[in-house]
Amino acid sequence: MSESNEKFRLLPSVDRVLQSAEVAELIDLYGVGPIKAHTRKLLSELRAQIAANKLLALRCDSEQALFEDFIKQLTLRAQAQSMSSLRPVLNLTGTVVHTNLGRAQLPAEAIAAIASIADQACNLEYDLQQGRRGDRDSHLEQLVCELTGAEAVTVVNNNAAAVLLALNSLAAQKSVLISRGELVEIGGSFRIPDVMRSAHAHLVEVGTTNRTHLSDYANAIDKDTGLLLKVHTSNYAVQGFTATVAEAELAQLARQNELPSMADLGSGTLIDLTAYGLPPEPTVQSIIESGIDLVTFSGDKLLGGPQAGIIAGKKSLVELIKRNPLKRALRVDKLTIAALEAVLHLYRDPDRLQKRLPLLRDLARPVAEIEMLAESLLPLARELLGHVATIRVVSTHSQIGSGALPLDVIPSVALELTPIAEKGQSDSALKDLAQNLRSLSRPIIVRIHDGKLIMDLRCLQSEELLLDLLTELATRY
Ligand SMILES: *Cc1c(COP(=O)(O)O)cnc(C)c1O
Repeated sequence: MSESNEKFRLLPSVDRVLQSAEVAELIDLYGVGPIKAHTRKLLSELRAQIAANKLLALRCDSEQALFEDFIKQLTLRAQAQSMSSLRPVLNLTGTVVHTNLGRAQLPAEAIAAIASIADQACNLEYDLQQGRRGDRDSHLEQLVCELTGAEAVTVVNNNAAAVLLALNSLAAQKSVLISRGELVEIGGSFRIPDVMRSAHAHLVEVGTTNRTHLSDYANAIDKDTGLLLKVHTSNYAVQGFTATVAEAELAQLARQNELPSMADLGSGTLIDLTAYGLPPEPTVQSIIESGIDLVTFSGDKLLGGPQAGIIAGKKSLVELIKRNPLKRALRVDKLTIAALEAVLHLYRDPDRLQKRLPLLRDLARPVAEIEMLAESLLPLARELLGHVATIRVVSTHSQIGSGALPLDVIPSVALELTPIAEKGQSDSALKDLAQNLRSLSRPIIVRIHDGKLIMDLRCLQSEELLLDLLTELATRY
């Protein structure tokens, strides 16, 4: 008998695998269908390896040894398949509101609110007093109005949707005046000219890149004009010889011409950030107060809540927007409303906001506290990874992230890792280390700068978790 025939005979049958005591537990966990499919696939891979005279990935000195390895493989594959693709990571990038890492972390109150309605029917669009159909915006309207001074509110999937919906509702087939200095692109896929086109509005640029005056808007108003728009230049700054038109002036010009005015605020904070030692950002209240008719802002940037786009302002305009069929396509679900309502409630008690809102906790964290954390981690990190990298504590700068100026940085403290590498290998050692960090049971995402890994500790809540992960990392070297 040939050697490969011998090996074929070592392979278990599908039935033997499925009926074994070891697999019963797997079937219980993952279901018979997936386990049968994994078994068939693994068997056919092994058969192909034997037929091609390749070395088997499993031990094949005896039927028993091969069976044991087979079950191990099966278990690994079943576990890997059932692992969520969406997983928690440790954000040590220093960018607090990181779009790619899910932006704001929800406060416990929001998570409780989601949990309390997730598995039951709720009055999402049901008026409990009248016993008839209600409006999903009603759960948020009063709160947003109270906090911002707006007359009415509607909420959609994100701020990009809010801008699209508002433009389409107020200015379809009409022209929208906007300063040349405010034609922003945010994260590549949101560009004002493109959104304008999607909304069937005509973009009319006024002024110049660095200087726009009220007269530029005034001179451009004609019978086709539908809206005067201001966009918060959230991710860049025009510096030097500059001039912009204040919201109040633009709002007044719009009123004089019986046109609506709107400001896309992007980040949209409800509190004075300077009170927490942070760079200034315009508040939603201040824009409403300036007389601008509508403000759009994100739920998951500086507000610190779930992904959402909030349109707040004049009642007649909000009603117009709510009648647009696009609203139906862009509306938020009950989980978002539950979380957003809970987050907004926290703003009613500003004194405790920093304690309760993770975003503000991280943004306003004192540098001295981060430094103490770094100093306490340093000796342990060196002990674990001294053979992998030279490690030191360095001063660095965190960024607020999406919707705040990249120039507005906040001082922070980091662990800096310089991989130990042979000459000419430092680039690949750096890449390897970053890759290893990303492959941990809780992936660690860091910033790479100038041949070094910077672990900004501003957003680290659990010292113990980081040490556990560095221990896991050490086993790879
Ligand atoms: C972030 C931002 C947007 C897009 O908001 P999303 O919540 O990402 O949809 C639009 N406009 C401005 C000015 C922004 O800063």
